[in-house]
Amino acid sequence: MTLQEKDSQYLWHPYTQHKTSQTPIAISRGEGALLWDENNKEYIDAIASWWVNPFGHSNKFIADAIYKQLTTLEHVLFGGFTHEPAIKVAEKLMEILPKNQQKIFFSDNGSTGVEVAIKVALQYFYNKGEKRTTIIAFENAFHGDTFAAMAASGISFYTQAFQGMFIDVVRIPVPVKGQEQASFEALENVIQHHNCAGFIFEPLVQGAAGMVMYEPEALAELISICKKNNVLTIADEVMTGFGKTGKTFAMDYVSEVPDMMCLSKALTGGTIPMAITTFTQDIFDAFYDDDINKALFHGHTFTANPTGCAAALASIDLLQTDEMQANIDRIIKSHLEFQKKIESHPKVITARTLGVIFAVEIKSDAKESYYGSMRTKLYNFFIENGVILRPVGNIVYILPPYIMTDEQLQKVYATIEEAIEMV
Ligand SMILES: *Cc1c(COP(=O)(O)O)cnc(C)c1O
Repeated sequence: MTLQEKDSQYLWHPYTQHKTSQTPIAISRGEGALLWDENNKEYIDAIASWWVNPFGHSNKFIADAIYKQLTTLEHVLFGGFTHEPAIKVAEKLMEILPKNQQKIFFSDNGSTGVEVAIKVALQYFYNKGEKRTTIIAFENAFHGDTFAAMAASGISFYTQAFQGMFIDVVRIPVPVKGQEQASFEALENVIQHHNCAGFIFEPLVQGAAGMVMYEPEALAELISICKKNNVLTIADEVMTGFGKTGKTFAMDYVSEVPDMMCLSKALTGGTIPMAITTFTQDIFDAFYDDDINKALFHGHTFTANPTGCAAALASIDLLQTDEMQANIDRIIKSHLEFQKKIESHPKVITARTLGVIFAVEIKSDAKESYYGSMRTKLYNFFIENGVILRPVGNIVYILPPYIMTDEQLQKVYATIEEAIEMV
């Protein structure tokens, strides 16, 4: 039996309708921006394996750090114990996070990182004896698939089966160009009419919505409205963190600082699942009390796994090298050129880019749904041509590993241009 045949016998894949979807491609190895399947067909990983892998597959520097940690201390419980890798990650993050972020809490993936932030926002006011139970989020937001994260997410595809079972979430429009005022007014209005605890947002780029982008000034205004009303702000940097936007964090573009941040995806260079939620001292202090009931009773078995910490440290080291920064700058320039070239194409609605993120919206007659027919056509075309891209409806986006070569990048662009002609 091939891997594909065995797979369909046993496995249940994420976001997959097994009755109608094609069998998954069995990948057997990866190096740099390339992956090879079981028949040795080569693919360019143009979305960094769901945005996690900035430094390339099978990265030797991170692998060595992981091996060293595995043979020193692979794991120890974090309740009542601590270890150097966790402390070093904290010290490192304190150097690169916005200065008001003072405490870090470990978990296992982006969703749990968000889950922690939302629970903390709710308990913060509970601990203070104030009734605030509503969370504000953007339309078409994506914050993960666990319950609170799902409640905050606004893409109905992912959440429709669970409507009516969620915590209280009120949505405001994203302040894309021309919509800023509507967004500010909606926020003021929501705060006036609900007991709001927190506002969670994907800063500057909404990934799962199809790389929807908005300006730092608009986000600063929204945060400042929250500050005036004592509503906690949560920057979900799970996708945008660690260089994707051209700066270490998307929040580095914004003049206001958030109360909490969620990090995951590229945190460990795409090697080991790990997430971190970061907090201000003020938030930590609201849980610091003689009363045990005011503690944050949240944890996961693998919290602060030392091997994951070692991977995170190695990844941040790599990110900070001149070579990696030069790679990011190279991709930014290249994307801007491609944007200029493609945005006037008659079949293109718009092309946008920030940092290494690039997205193009293709004209279509019908309103394209998330997993609609155009999406399937595009996806199959890319796979046939050895490029891994996962369009969102009629939106094709690139989020390459930073080490992707110019030649590989040009092939990705050329394949997208051909796909636009084809549909
Ligand atoms: C991917 C993502 C999440 C969820 O992370 P998982 O590791 O898939 O649980 C949350 N927020 C944002 C912005 C994401 O892009």
